[in-house]
Amino acid sequence: MRISKRFLIAAVIIVFAAAISFKIFLDSIYRLPVLMYHSIDYTSDRKDRMTVPPDVFAKQMKYLSDKRYNVIPLEKAVEYIEREERPPRNTVAITIDDGYANNYTYVYPVLKRYHIPATIFIIVNMVGEEGFLNWDKIKEMSDSGVIDIESHTISHTWLTGLDDARLRSELMDSKRILEGGVGKEIKYLCYPMGAYNEHVKSAVKAAGYKAAFATKPTRLSPNYDICEIKRVRISPAANNLFVFVIKISGYHSFLRVIQNDYKDIPYLLWKRKSL
Ligand SMILES: [Zn+2]
Repeated sequence: MRISKRFLIAAVIIVFAAAISFKIFLDSIYRLPVLMYHSIDYTSDRKDRMTVPPDVFAKQMKYLSDKRYNVIPLEKAVEYIEREERPPRNTVAITIDDGYANNYTYVYPVLKRYHIPATIFIIVNMVGEEGFLNWDKIKEMSDSGVIDIESHTISHTWLTGLDDARLRSELMDSKRILEGGVGKEIKYLCYPMGAYNEHVKSAVKAAGYKAAFATKPTRLSPNYDICEIKRVRISPAANNLFVFVIKISGYHSFLRVIQNDYKDIPYLLWKRKSL
């Protein structure tokens, strides 16, 4: 009887310690999910990984609304990241890159319906071009309070290959022109093609941006650098609600890094077998 009591106490302690360790582990790999969309449209190209169909987008926003996700403006997300603070459960932020015209047709009405805030990163040179938003629509969305407009540079080029004058122009002129267009301060930058280095990051800070957004996470990505905030791409694969739920969990970045690290294993095993 005594032994079994001791055994019980030991078992409780072990389970308790395991639960605490697991919680610490989960906290260490958690990242506030900043979702990244591009074009929201119907497409027949099955290889197109950037375009999400409008009905899928609407279904995803309805899910966030029905399940009472805490969808926060980008500004709040940056605050959490800067303070290295974990947000409340089920917190998500939404960004949409490039400024496609379909954002007005298929994104804006859905976000208004569910009162979901989102940020659109605009490429200044593409404003008013075929397939892209014009200034009237950008201003209307910005004035609504639902959409926050931010910069995706002037020409959507690789910032890492530019001389200093051109880099400054991509960062400062896009900020100034967008501020003139929407009448609000432009605070955030999104790196074209996700390309940046330390030099680009310091130029971003010098140009007056408060934070900058990248794309894919890697093992070396710091969690709390506000000049390289990683995002979770929502591709057509997230059409499957299960995939979408994983992507908005806060643990997707960790799973992606693991997936990248081990993606060659099936190939190596196969190669070994065939030798
Ligand atoms: Zn882009």
